[in-house]
Amino acid sequence: MSTIAVDTARLPLLLHELRLPAIGRLWQDIAARADKEGWPAARFLSALAELEVAERARRRIERHLVESRLPPGKTLDSFDFAAVPMLSKAQMMALASGDVWLEKGANLLLFGPPGSGKSHAAAALGRALVENGYRVLFSRTTDLVQRLQLERQALRLEAAIAKLDRFDLLILDDLSYVTKDQAETSVLFELIASRYERRSLMITANQPFGEWDKVFPQPAMTVAAIDRLVHHATIFEMNVESYRRRTAIGRKAKAERHTAETT
Ligand code: ADP
Ligand code: MG
Repeated sequence: MSTIAVDTARLPLLLHELRLPAIGRLWQDIAARADKEGWPAARFLSALAELEVAERARRRIERHLVESRLPPGKTLDSFDFAAVPMLSKAQMMALASGDVWLEKGANLLLFGPPGSGKSHAAAALGRALVENGYRVLFSRTTDLVQRLQLERQALRLEAAIAKLDRFDLLILDDLSYVTKDQAETSVLFELIASRYERRSLMITANQPFGEWDKVFPQPAMTVAAIDRLVHHATIFEMNVESYRRRTAIGRKAKAERHTAETT
């Protein structure tokens, strides 16, 4: 057996033991290249370390994307900013980098009628933030309220809310669909109060604050919730016509033009 064979016989086992799968997979290729190009040993070692670290970052982002429950296909690239003039692309791109607002636990509120693109914009921003290394959870507000309500019944509400701290950002989609008779929504207040000035929330709603009395059990709680949410918040009012309806009308007009041209 050659010296190299002897030296490397145990390598797969050692790399596995050290949990270095990228190096395990790639070291032979890199070693061949290093030998051929006469790399100094230090360069070889540093190339392998870089590969492993890059692969770890990639896998972490993949895990965070899975845990985020973000709806697929809603990206900033596929968002037509021209359709929502009041939503500045530059500002969205700045928010997508995350650092300033997520680090101080600031909030983002998106209001607009059904179909105006709130969920798409929220999910797209969430996805960009995950890709930038943050942890995000996207949830319909009604689902999260129900979940927290069950935790409250099991006397575990505080722990459940604390567990959500691992997410830099919670996206609560369609807050105004929550009604106080549907579930006891004081859990939502507890969540808002607990994250205040620490962890960010992004909220979408058809109805701006005027209608939120329907959401919380007492008017004082509504006021207190809104007060905390807006204290450090960016608010976008997306008062545009439904994107679905607009594209449907666009398709219809196109089809009619086509029919007119061909008949
Ligand atoms: P909302 O949450 O405000 O009711 P959605 O975000 O669900 O609206 O938008 C409805 C549909 O239209 C979705 O399929 C979404 O991807 C699409 N859409 C809305 N606004 C835009 C936009 N500005 N650019 C591209 N697609 C959009
Ligand atoms: Mg929506």
